Amino acid sequence: MNILIVGSGGREHAMAWKIKQSPKLRQLFIAPGNAGTSLLGTNIPVGVSDFEGLKKAVLDNQIDLVLVGPEVPLCEGLHDFFSTDSKLKDVLFVGPYQLGAQLEGSKDFAKEFMVRHNIPTAKYLAITAENLNEGLSFLKTLDSPYVLKADGLAAGKGVLILNDLQEAEDSLKEMLGGQFGAASSKVVIEEFLSGIECSVFAITDGKDYRILPVAKDYKRIGEGDTGLNTGGMGSISPVSFADELFMKKVEDRIIRPTVQGLIQDQIPYNGFIFFGLISCKGEPMVIEYNVRMGDPETEAVMLRIKSDFVDLLIGAAEGTLGKKSIEIDPRTAAAVMLVSGGYPGPYEKGKVISGLEKVETSFAFHAGTSFKNGNVCTDGGRVLAISSYGKTMSEALACSYKNAQLIGFEGLYYRKDLGFDL
Ligand code: ATP
Repeated sequence: MNILIVGSGGREHAMAWKIKQSPKLRQLFIAPGNAGTSLLGTNIPVGVSDFEGLKKAVLDNQIDLVLVGPEVPLCEGLHDFFSTDSKLKDVLFVGPYQLGAQLEGSKDFAKEFMVRHNIPTAKYLAITAENLNEGLSFLKTLDSPYVLKADGLAAGKGVLILNDLQEAEDSLKEMLGGQFGAASSKVVIEEFLSGIECSVFAITDGKDYRILPVAKDYKRIGEGDTGLNTGGMGSISPVSFADELFMKKVEDRIIRPTVQGLIQDQIPYNGFIFFGLISCKGEPMVIEYNVRMGDPETEAVMLRIKSDFVDLLIGAAEGTLGKKSIEIDPRTAAAVMLVSGGYPGPYEKGKVISGLEKVETSFAFHAGTSFKNGNVCTDGGRVLAISSYGKTMSEALACSYKNAQLIGFEGLYYRKDLGFDL
């Protein structure tokens, strides 16, 4: 079949790499893709929110299955657009409709869903400018630190964690006053949970689900988890504390109730669910849902899926996932993200990347790259994910670090302490 991946990051390159291994694939297209994906398939210069452009790409290239990488087009209703267009409605689609995408697009929607279905999560209250006083009173009932979240999508920047009550009260007013635009016209105030985080992924057709390898990502720019938040500086799979007992709790208390909850609420769902979890003394709690795979977790997770990934995608899109099995590679996978100097603040693009051809024992998944005058150049904050297998976490990381040293571009930076907390 012909497959179109929508997106342009390391996640999409890793998915393209995995899809390329399937005997079911005829031709692969990526919109808009990056320099790395162009080596595996055909890049189509159409943005992820350009629905008409994507429609044309699908019709022109006889696409049979569309896989959406990022959340934005899903929250904007790309699946709904496909299902209501007579020319597109038979195309298989992996990614939820706009209603299901609200699990990521609205934190209040997600919290209400979790409460309704008894899924463990932090105590919360959703506040708009009209009931600010209720919000201020709720804050007083919580202990420091205070967690404030913009309800809508804010590119990973809409969560504030504040130590001081006064600061939290001031921030709540600023957020409701438009600090994150329309995304923070509603704010979720949450109890702070303390523990260690991990990312669990499931693929579902809305009835059945399959659990993908668990991973942990490293969000902060600095070593020892310090400094500003980033899109993610690397990932590891599996995660030592997410053992069999923990994962059984996750499945019984979180994954199964979530899929059952979608059925009960009559929310059709074909795609991935990302459970952002925190282990509070061994008890899993949900921090957030995402409605797509994580980046950079995917750059480790794809290495550990032994089954035909396309077969799983077809199952999720067609509603036949109950007939599909998933086989996981027992090895560890680690991804180390190489970023542009200055990221996550301002950074320059267009730096020539050298050494890619020397990477032999790792996979170099491209995140922000493009071709310029025949050279692969940096084209984003996160540039390359160097992913490797190992018998152990240390072995996988050592392999990624060894290969990272072969790569050069002006300003290159990466964290050298991944896995330090496991
Ligand atoms: P991203 O898109 O970057 O994953 P987001 O903006 O959707 O994040 P959340 O994942 O809900 O927002 O929160 C971001 C981070 O803030 C979490 O990964 C976690 O580290 C921290 N956090 C969020 N909620 C809580 C909480 N209740 N207690 C402790 N830490 C929290």
